[in-house]
Amino acid sequence: MKKRTLLMIPGPIEFEPSVLSALGQPTQSHIDPRFIEVFGRTLEKMRKVWGSPAGQPFIVPGTGTLAMEMPAANLVEPGDRVLAVSTGYFGDRYADILSRYTDRVKVLSAPPGETVTAGCIEEELKKSDYSLMTITHVDTSTGVRMDPRPLGRLGRRYGVLTVLDGVCSVAGEELKQDEWELDVVFTASQKAVGVPPGLALVVAGPRAVSRWKNRKSRVSNYYCDWNQWLPVMEAYEAGRPAYFATPAVNHVCALDVSLDTVLREGMAERFRRHRLVGRAFQAGIEALGLKQVPFDSQSRAFTLSAPYYPPGVTGDRLLPRVREAGVIFAGGLHPEIKARYFRVGHMGSTRLTDVMSSLGALETALEECGVSLIPGVSMAAARSIAVSEDS
Ligand SMILES: *Cc1c(COP(=O)(O)O)cnc(C)c1O
Repeated sequence: MKKRTLLMIPGPIEFEPSVLSALGQPTQSHIDPRFIEVFGRTLEKMRKVWGSPAGQPFIVPGTGTLAMEMPAANLVEPGDRVLAVSTGYFGDRYADILSRYTDRVKVLSAPPGETVTAGCIEEELKKSDYSLMTITHVDTSTGVRMDPRPLGRLGRRYGVLTVLDGVCSVAGEELKQDEWELDVVFTASQKAVGVPPGLALVVAGPRAVSRWKNRKSRVSNYYCDWNQWLPVMEAYEAGRPAYFATPAVNHVCALDVSLDTVLREGMAERFRRHRLVGRAFQAGIEALGLKQVPFDSQSRAFTLSAPYYPPGVTGDRLLPRVREAGVIFAGGLHPEIKARYFRVGHMGSTRLTDVMSSLGALETALEECGVSLIPGVSMAAARSIAVSEDS
């Protein structure tokens, strides 16, 4: 019998069979009229998923880290003052990336599990002539979600471009790029948009594009330069091929299929389902007495959870037993608390039944590690959330 396991990590996630089948089709020429059509309509679908009718989408072979680098390379010039708001490992990574393009990077960081408040960010923006700030919507190392709404507004008020790392949020957490006045929002294919690793997906708003057009210096990063990519995106959308670097043909075809699934569900419903699944899983772990890295329940992401191990239990003992019970979780990532917590992704096509299976596997593994618990207690708590959300 085929051994089935449920992959519940914060990317790569489990992919829809229709997406994997699109990925496995014979590779077309990147200038085949059929592929040009697919590429063009996939760019248009990105605008809908991002909530950015006015945005310029980019589909580029690479990962989330490349998507982080792209706005830094195109929008930051030497000597620019930039602000990196950090709620974990990926916020810190952003500061490091920015520092390759200017030596005036200020990091505003929160202790693991906490947010940086809008008030604190505004204080900082008042102090200096910042040109750009980066925020991590959901930091995958802590499970902390920042509310980007007031930050887009702040950016506008202080003339600062707002760049949102949405790698662990786009197509999972509520997002309206244009309405919230966010200048760049990006993700990677393997997270909630649901395509195997390989694509960096970036949407740049009009203010970002105009800042880039008015640069004084040449973009120093060859591969990231929008001078290379913008004509390609514009051409494919206009039904013509163009070449800078070979498009990831099969991945683009798979993205076309995956974004269809996303849009067929509808963005409002998709956000509601992620909220339900996230709250249900978190109610389950709370019922087991596990503490969570995000301190305040309002700032807990719906796309992943970050529970601490209970006293006396280590990851080395727990995680292999969860896997033996059929479910795969991820270990900790934030360097300060890495060994003390684990991470569970619940984005993309995750449903309540996956939450129940995960909690069941977790209960079994905890019992095997000597933790005493009332069997089924976490599933009951998860169910009660589902019932209350449905009414
Ligand atoms: C996964 C992730 C990244 C990095 O993406 P890679 O594809 O691993 O390069 C960046 N930011 C956040 C918030 C992420 O979750």
